[in-house]
Formats: sequence, structure tokens, C-alpha cells
Amino acid sequence: MTHLFVSDLHLDGAAPEASDQFIAFLRGEALGAGALYILGDLFESWVGDDDDDAERLRVCAALRDYTAAGTPCFVMHGNRDFLLGEGFAARTGCHLVADPVVTDIEGVRTLLAHGDLFCTDDVKYQQLRTIVRDPAWQARLLALPIDTRKLIAEEARAGSRAHTRRVIPEIMDANPRAIEVAVRACAVDVVIHGHTHRPGVHEFVVDGRPRTRIVLGAWYEQGSVLEWSATGRRLRTLAR
Ligand code: MN
Repeated sequence: MTHLFVSDLHLDGAAPEASDQFIAFLRGEALGAGALYILGDLFESWVGDDDDDAERLRVCAALRDYTAAGTPCFVMHGNRDFLLGEGFAARTGCHLVADPVVTDIEGVRTLLAHGDLFCTDDVKYQQLRTIVRDPAWQARLLALPIDTRKLIAEEARAGSRAHTRRVIPEIMDANPRAIEVAVRACAVDVVIHGHTHRPGVHEFVVDGRPRTRIVLGAWYEQGSVLEWSATGRRLRTLAR
């Protein structure tokens, strides 16, 4: 059984070629996989389960066809689409999972996370993360009219771009100590996450035991997928 992992697709009407590629992936090589895990930021934004954006609805319909064909699909919140809720799950047949979550993949205890919680050097970002992941704050936001939420999402994206321009790249990467703490606390041998848009495989040792951290890439210019089956793991780029 093959497990597929993707993250940071950032699907948005402004770049339909990324949605096209993801939909082709769902109808092609991902069809018949054992499971598909989307580890956050499937969408560039999501203003609530009443989101009526045509591009996002097109992706939701493709996910619905995909899960209806029999492959379980697990979706984690990212920092862009943290408002994905049960309405999204019902519409697509996907299962929402907590961030982070410990699971067993091919007999290996594995931590799945979007990855932003490991970026502990970016204090301002972590303060924002605490606010937007608070259920009471989310409920207040969701109570606003959809047009207001769309405006807020636009402003948040502009604010995020400004912050990303100002902060030096190392600050926005995963902190090795935060990874180590998580590995020890969750007693995992493998960590899979996205968010940093720095795809790679990192081998390291914690408490004398070899561990692996796999970082998934973003889908801005190409696709990125981790394949994990009984024969091993492969982090691949999908050409566009
Ligand atoms: Mn992210």
C-alpha cells in the first residue's frame, strides 16, 4: 500500500495551472493509492465552508470524486486554510486531522504536521498562530458576512507577504530544537511536514536513535509528493 503526502499547494484562482496539476494528480497517479495526506495549505485561503470561489469548488469536486473512488484522504489545516471545517469534509469526503498528529506508516511511528509550529524563531508569527487557531476567535470570524471575511483574508495575505519580505529566511525555517523536542515528546522516528517550502530529507540523531525529517515542497512552480510504501520512501518533484 502506497501512502502519498503533499502540502502547500496554495490553490487559488490566480494560478489555475496548479489546480489543473493537482486534479490531474488525483485522477492519475494518486488514484488507487492506499491513502493521501494533505498536510496543510491546500488552499491559498478559505473563508469558511460557505466559500463560493469557483476555483476552490472545482478542487473540492475533484476531491469528492477521488474519495468516492475509494481512497481515504486526510486533510490537515495550514496557516492559510485554518478555517476548513466539517462542511468542507462533508463536501469532499476528506477527513480533517489534527495538527500535529502521530500515526503509524508502514510500521513506523510518524509525526505529521503542517510545520509552522516548528518555526519557533519567528515570535511574531507564533503570536499570530495562537490567535487564529483559537476556536473562539475562529467562531467570531465565521459569524461575519462572507464578503467581510473575503476582505479580511485579502488583508491577511498582504500582511503575510509584507512579514515574509521583512524577516530573514533562517528565522522562518523550522527550528532544530523544536523538532528535537517534538520527536522526543511524541517518540517518533519520522517527521513529515511542509510550510517552509524547502523540500528535503534530513537525517539526524535524538537520544542515540536515528530519525528522519522529510519536508514537502510547495506547488507554486511544480508539484511535490512523498511516496511511502513497503519498498521505501521517495520525495519527488512533479514537473508541470
Ligand atoms: Mn504554510
